[in-house]
Amino acid sequence: MHHFHYVDEELYCENVPVGRICEDVGTPVYVYSRETLVRHFRKFEEPFADLNHLICYSMKACSNLAILHVFCGLGGGVDIVSGGELYRALKAGVPPSRIVYSGVGKKAAEMDEALEADILLFNVESEEEVELLAQRAGTLGKKARIAVRVNPDVDPRTHPYISTGLKRNKFGIEVERSLDLYRRAGSMESLEPVGVDCHIGSQLTDLSPFMEAVDRLGELIGALRSEGINIRYLDIGGGLGIPYDQEEPPSPADYGQAVIERVRDMGVTLILEPGRVLVGNAGILVTRVLYQKRGTLKHFVIVDAAMNDLMRPVLYKAYHGIWRVLQDGRGGEPRKVIADVVGPICESGDFLAQDRELDEMRSGDLLALMSAGAYGFSMSSNYNSRPRAAEVLVVGDEYFVVRERETYEDLIRGERIPDKTP
Ligand SMILES: *Cc1c(COP(=O)(O)O)cnc(C)c1O
Repeated sequence: MHHFHYVDEELYCENVPVGRICEDVGTPVYVYSRETLVRHFRKFEEPFADLNHLICYSMKACSNLAILHVFCGLGGGVDIVSGGELYRALKAGVPPSRIVYSGVGKKAAEMDEALEADILLFNVESEEEVELLAQRAGTLGKKARIAVRVNPDVDPRTHPYISTGLKRNKFGIEVERSLDLYRRAGSMESLEPVGVDCHIGSQLTDLSPFMEAVDRLGELIGALRSEGINIRYLDIGGGLGIPYDQEEPPSPADYGQAVIERVRDMGVTLILEPGRVLVGNAGILVTRVLYQKRGTLKHFVIVDAAMNDLMRPVLYKAYHGIWRVLQDGRGGEPRKVIADVVGPICESGDFLAQDRELDEMRSGDLLALMSAGAYGFSMSSNYNSRPRAAEVLVVGDEYFVVRERETYEDLIRGERIPDKTP
């Protein structure tokens, strides 16, 4: 469910015509619907109402301050994976008591920043990381609350690049080996083991891998408590999928019910780290058709957005629906074409859709790449010296530019030619 819909033949986000935003702001542009963000957060949270819980939005999915502000206003926290994300979260007003810090490669300076902020929890992933965190916390005179991210070795059956909970993945520590690490951490003055954590992958369309993982974590909590390690938090990560194309992922309600059944009697505060399911369908990327080119084998639609704006198609072979912002008003069924939608970048991987059946269109037409809210803008780059797109948040009948389109000056910020260059 989202708030992008047609009124007559024109695509609207909530009560604002998408075409008007493009006239004012230009293309390519990311457009987010606030109402959809709110709805998704509430739907996701609903099943957990009777349990102590904290929803820590996985902000790498879409880290704009305005988006963080929306979720924070609904009582949410964030899951961060870098010092930069901590900086953003604090700027957006997220209370440190609602921040958890995940990631396999935290640097000392990043740990220090998070310790100074006094975040809720560090999700630690290796023996060496635990040693460093203990040392940094000791030096700063702090006590770091930690959860060990365990790798429950379940197959999430998703794209290999977004599968994280198998033994061959770089993430987490095997359940059996985590016990020693908990004992070691428990003996350290500057660390307090308070939680158990996992995150098994992304875009999961089946409940069973989640449930297997939760069961394994439940057993681990029992084992730890029997040794006197007082586990108070269970963090089950994110990963719930969304429909991009034909997928039929479990609803947040079904997911929530299944989790609740298992967690209800564990006596923990449940932490959830949803990313995609909150923002994915709440955002679109709008682009303008520049040219069309008909070869003998392929029909190419060349647009002004490219792989630097939306990496998912080339990175994961991901599918994004393509809707026309203005449907043809000439009556009758539009003619169809089978086309590749490609950008201006000098790479054959620069496509947004391949062999896609689309309504026949003309140069100048606007196209919306649907479900682009998650891992869209946040993965964008300046490749080919392309300024990154603007981001717009729609609120009812108003819209706000929440990130300006980058300028050419932005592109060279911080660069300099050394004096010694002849
Ligand atoms: C990416 C990530 C998430 C969010 O995953 P989604 O599939 O977007 O829900 C949650 N936790 C961790 C540790 C992550 O790396």
